[in-house]
Amino acid sequence: MSINSVKGMHDVLGEEVEGFAYIENLLKHISELYAYNEVRPPVIEQSNLFVRSVGQSSDVIRKEMYTFSDKGGRSIALRPEFTAGIIRLMVQHKLLLTKELPVKVYYLGPVFRYERPQLGRYRQFNQFGVEAVGNDSAEIDADVIALAYTMLQSLDLENVIIKINTLGDELSRENYKKALKNYFAPFITSMCKDCQLRYELSPLRILDCKVPNDQEIIKKAPKMKDYLSLKALGRFNRLLSLLEALGIPYEIDDNLVRGLDYYSETVFEFHYVSKSGNDYGAIGAGGHYDKLTKELGGPEMAGIGFSFGIERLYSVLKDDGLLELAYANRLDFYVMPLAQQAQDMALQVSIELRLAGYRTDLCFEEAKLPNMFKRATRKQAKYAIIIGEDEIKKREVVIKNLETQKQKNYGIDKLIENIAADLDVHDHDDICLVGKEG
Ligand code: AMP
Repeated sequence: MSINSVKGMHDVLGEEVEGFAYIENLLKHISELYAYNEVRPPVIEQSNLFVRSVGQSSDVIRKEMYTFSDKGGRSIALRPEFTAGIIRLMVQHKLLLTKELPVKVYYLGPVFRYERPQLGRYRQFNQFGVEAVGNDSAEIDADVIALAYTMLQSLDLENVIIKINTLGDELSRENYKKALKNYFAPFITSMCKDCQLRYELSPLRILDCKVPNDQEIIKKAPKMKDYLSLKALGRFNRLLSLLEALGIPYEIDDNLVRGLDYYSETVFEFHYVSKSGNDYGAIGAGGHYDKLTKELGGPEMAGIGFSFGIERLYSVLKDDGLLELAYANRLDFYVMPLAQQAQDMALQVSIELRLAGYRTDLCFEEAKLPNMFKRATRKQAKYAIIIGEDEIKKREVVIKNLETQKQKNYGIDKLIENIAADLDVHDHDDICLVGKEG
């Protein structure tokens, strides 16, 4: 009997692995340019961490969290998002007690949500994100949004729509919640069950409802912007003018509230419609929070962060034909010994090429020349290196460009020097260093 992967889980292999690695390396690199450091919290946390921070009325907590009792009877959860775990980590390791604020970290890893599996929606997916904690200003908001925007620009994603809104400060939200409750009171019994619960626990979240009938009612609901305190409005306007000065385009979306309880003030989402018109919805999202550090036992401090879904980024890059660079790391050389006696030389040449920083593989089996070429093509090598009896005698190899089909002989004594001067290949060690240094 064969055993398949669990429903909603997906294996990542082949091209997808190359694509994911390309995205992740680029996002890491840019985070480091913006002076963020990596942290790696565990996948498992106490369930309470998420209930307290993300909020009991959120879909993530009510319906989607993988919660278990471990063998010691503790209630634990697979993380349904990163922010709560990151703040827990910062508080537990006293990172926020420094004078060097904000503390800036980035993270990457799997997230688990028991959602209905559908195209582009998995129960285990990967997020890359950042959190900057310990500064409360429109400037840090702008810097964090600029970081996300730089990431998307670096991936060459042109059709990004940045949706932005403010949830205001506590006073603004209290007034707005009252106005929403008054407005929805006559309709609420005709609205969906989720909205009825949201009405009691978190009326703002009604604005997030996707049920068509409810959306008609939501359209005419009061707007947050009419309930903002002067302070909250000033902060939001300052952020918008900073984004304009930085040339970052945005759209204000009055109904953008985000599904997690801890947000206040600035919230944003990155949406994408591919060149062929496919609407991918949100590829990433984030916002500002100010009660989370205190709620989790740390000093009261504001923070802001965002996360991208790696699977979503991969899908839009693929749709827009932007994964070319992801495949730049494919084989440079495929070495093909044509006779048993050529094996020694093939091995020697391969190892020499690898030490010089070229991606090289070789054929270990006896096979006919056409079959070896087929293998080289399947492996997407740029060049085939052919070693037959003649070549052994002359201490030469034949190097064939698999795209142009042109070939030339090279003496093996100065092989690396000649290749560097002659062929269109890059030393991958160099590429790594260039990437790191900048
Ligand atoms: P959220 O924490 O809900 O704002 O999600 C952040 C990002 O993660 C979204 O913008 C998506 O790109 C991605 N994402 C969320 N849920 C899923 C899912 N079930 N499958 C794949 N990607 C997801």
